[in-house]
Amino acid sequence: RYTGPTTEEIIRKRKEFLSPSMFCFYTKPVNIVHGKMQYLFDENGRRYLDGFGGIATVSCGHGHPDVVRAIVNQTSKIQHSTILYLNHVIADFAEALASKMPGDLKVVFFTNSGTEANELAMMIARLYTGCQDVISLRNAYHGNAAGTMGATAMCNWKFNVVQSGVHHTQNPDPYRGAFGSDGEKYAKDVEDIIQYGTSGHAAGFIFEAIQGVGGIVELAPSYLTSVYSTIKKAGGLVIADEVQCGFARTGSNFWGFQNHDIVPDIVTMAKGIGNGIPLGAVVTTPEVAKVLTRRNYFNTFGGNPVSTAAGLAVLKVIEREKLQENAHVVGSYLKERLSSLQDKHEIIGDVRGRGLILGVELVADRKLKTPANAEVLEVMDNMKDLGVLIGKGGFYGNVFRITPPLCFTKQDADFLVDAMDYSLSKL
Ligand code: PMP
Repeated sequence: RYTGPTTEEIIRKRKEFLSPSMFCFYTKPVNIVHGKMQYLFDENGRRYLDGFGGIATVSCGHGHPDVVRAIVNQTSKIQHSTILYLNHVIADFAEALASKMPGDLKVVFFTNSGTEANELAMMIARLYTGCQDVISLRNAYHGNAAGTMGATAMCNWKFNVVQSGVHHTQNPDPYRGAFGSDGEKYAKDVEDIIQYGTSGHAAGFIFEAIQGVGGIVELAPSYLTSVYSTIKKAGGLVIADEVQCGFARTGSNFWGFQNHDIVPDIVTMAKGIGNGIPLGAVVTTPEVAKVLTRRNYFNTFGGNPVSTAAGLAVLKVIEREKLQENAHVVGSYLKERLSSLQDKHEIIGDVRGRGLILGVELVADRKLKTPANAEVLEVMDNMKDLGVLIGKGGFYGNVFRITPPLCFTKQDADFLVDAMDYSLSKL
């Protein structure tokens, strides 16, 4: 039974003592006091189906007993920094993580967040190549520190501070992009940037295989293979940001980039890696990793025993409970059902994504693709009242983002789609 402060009290404290930039979903925000697998509970014990927990890090499910046990056990043994003494957990987790990687990707650096992971990845690429110029996709989100804010390419996530050395290339967005699904045509822009905007060399190219914050945008087919060879010719490294689409979420593969037949030089991850525990990682090859021996490099809490114990437990759960397969089966079913809503509701312009990272874009006019963002908010409010929480995103804020914990079931998918169907009908 919840005996904590009321919703009003929490809102008052947030307003008075927390960053004025903090925001919340919903006209009347939800006070979440408990979570169990794919469900969340508010202070009155009301249950919500969590269609967005994946984004906020939950891969195996809220409070998964194995992960909780691993965290509690490790906390009771030792929690410390990893920089001074030996401890087996960080090594065990690094080994387990490396075993999920293709090619020679087997050296792991741990961080505490996705931003830190991408900062480190970009620095490694710059050091390794001796080059400053990084190329990222328009509409990308890679973090909000000095370097990564440069790579992030949406004005509403960028502050007016120095963000040097990043070029933003055309987004190979099959729905809104100039060349539709013709990946090769978009890839030409990367070549042009290198020709006209750099000395002819690049430090690297960073991408999300499915843009999350950007509104679940998949890269047009054959785009990545084409860009990969362009970047290699320019001496650069290819960095896959798997913060949102990694860890079995796409279902068809463990990593998002594997849906594109390339092996990056650096892979970054966070969110789902720890099922809610702050943890991030950069994985690269022994050859590239060597650049960080030029100076001292450490991260106080990166790879601490408690976070890595959680990470190790998450990998085991994903394997044992066949969550990748579940993401594929349930995700395909969910996508099919969402796509069928498109026949019924004119306002749905596009349904996209893969596995359990799906997007539904609302437009006021299918031809003009006019973003229907007010409607997105209305439907989200309505779905919340029906007991379903989903997210939103996209440059215009008009895309539903559906990224539930990977233990989502077909029944959950049905409930979510029925709630969306009903809410769209009420618009
Ligand atoms: N990369 C991607 C693809 C992300 O979605 C995010 C966070 N939304 C980040 C990096 C940054 O992660 P964090 O918030 O943990 O710093």
